[in-house]
Amino acid sequence: MREVGSIVTELTGRIIRRGDPGYPEARKNFNLYYSKFPEAIVFCEEEKDVLNALKYVRESKVPFRVRSGRHSYQNFSLLDNGIVIDISELNAIKVDTSKDIAVIKAGCELGNVYQTLWQHGRTLPSGIHSSAGSTIPAGTQSSVGIAGLTLGGGIGYLSRVFGLTCDNLLNVRIAVPKGKDDVKVLEANSRKNSELFWACCGGGGGNFGIVTEFTFRIHPIKNVSIFQAEWDFDQLETAFDSWQHWAPFADRRLTSSIELKAKSENTIQALGQFLGSKDELKKLIRPLVKNTSPRKVQVTTIPFNQAVNFFNNPAGNIPSYFKRSGAYIYKPLPNEGIKIMKRFLENAPNENAAIWQQSLAGAVQDKAPSETAYYHRNALIAQEYNTRWTKDEVASRNVQWVYSLRKHLTPYTRGNYVNWPDILIRDWPRTYYGDNFDQLRKVKTKVDPMNVFRFKQSIPPFSN
Ligand SMILES: Cc1cc2nc3c(=O)[nH]c(=O)nc-3n(C[C@H](O)[C@H](O)[C@H](O)COP(=O)(O)OP(=O)(O)OC[C@H]3O[C@@H](n4cnc5c(N)ncnc54)[C@H](O)[C@@H]3O)c2cc1C
Repeated sequence: MREVGSIVTELTGRIIRRGDPGYPEARKNFNLYYSKFPEAIVFCEEEKDVLNALKYVRESKVPFRVRSGRHSYQNFSLLDNGIVIDISELNAIKVDTSKDIAVIKAGCELGNVYQTLWQHGRTLPSGIHSSAGSTIPAGTQSSVGIAGLTLGGGIGYLSRVFGLTCDNLLNVRIAVPKGKDDVKVLEANSRKNSELFWACCGGGGGNFGIVTEFTFRIHPIKNVSIFQAEWDFDQLETAFDSWQHWAPFADRRLTSSIELKAKSENTIQALGQFLGSKDELKKLIRPLVKNTSPRKVQVTTIPFNQAVNFFNNPAGNIPSYFKRSGAYIYKPLPNEGIKIMKRFLENAPNENAAIWQQSLAGAVQDKAPSETAYYHRNALIAQEYNTRWTKDEVASRNVQWVYSLRKHLTPYTRGNYVNWPDILIRDWPRTYYGDNFDQLRKVKTKVDPMNVFRFKQSIPPFSN
């Protein structure tokens, strides 16, 4: 692509334009609801392609978005008529177990990350036994991109023991704007470009530049114990109350979730992963089950890679029409709050509507809210509202259900996770970033003063 009359850098990489045979697949994101039709998608195959693409959009003033795993709830990684700079083909992983680090290209999906790291075991310092593999704490669905996940924080079933994904980040390589229309690559870590590194740890994707590579501290891992408990819907109040007073305060080697499904599904389900033995886990879950009447409780010890597959729900990796939003629980919900959830689930728009929560605290609270851009360190629980549908005519009912549920719970909750963005949240800066918002704007002003990287809920520089 060359503009007539002016010199514009060539786009390189695998380029799919509107009308090309591969376009329908190439443009599609995971959320089919916010459909967008870009002019072209540039699949970058090397870092050089990323730089060329960024330089091209700067010189030609074409609007653009950055994309890796395609999972943005609001499709902030897509746009109409501009260019999508797609990093997904930059997906190599190098592991150095002697230093406990992995260099992961930004286009990797979580499935690839977990599988590759699992293949790298090592002898533990005790010398007594070797780990079967290695890992980083990250999310559950294999198709989610490491890029968006890490830049917004990254929660999953190892959060309470190893922290957020971004807490294990050591270095990023990131392409950023330079001058009027040029670009450059920076390394950012705790010593070099440390303010930008701070912002990359929870400030959210797409705000400062294009990350091409992450370096993570990895953890040796072998077997884990997992549990599953289920209750009938009429047990919602006692099961949830028991879980919320237990899960965030349990042994930090245990991270768990509880899903409250629509009444028609008649299922409340708690799941958890523990770095320890089955017998210890059986003891740990006693407070959860003792005052409730679960219809099923299962505890087992399995190799970590099997646990990864267990938590990876195949349906969660298929694109669909959905609306999701969320909030944090800082203090256990009072009965009124739990009753609101029950009422909404009794009147759910369909069987796929659900309220999902994950326990936090533990290692997530080892850092202060201002220590990284991820602000909601003191929350006990992350709470997500979600629904999905297939027919256009029910879309607004579903969106309204999520909006109204979030609104009704607002007296009892705070904020929202930036990786669960919701365009219906008006005061999104404070909601996602709390007191860290001003520092994020300072970093933005320094790194991207001309607001090259922008979308509906992007961090604005002070000059704008
Ligand atoms: C089914 C599903 C399951 C999920 N499970 C979890 C979970 O277990 N834990 C959790 O914490 N979150 C989870 N999430 C939320 C997820 O973390 C966010 O949706 C995340 O932003 C996805 O990143 P992505 O790279 O896949 O998406 P994309 O849509 O490609 O990108 C998301 C955002 O990051 C920006 N971005 C992408 N690549 C780059 C890059 N290389 N450099 C700079 N910016 C970039 C984009 O512009 C966009 O703003 C889940 C989401 C879905 C849909």
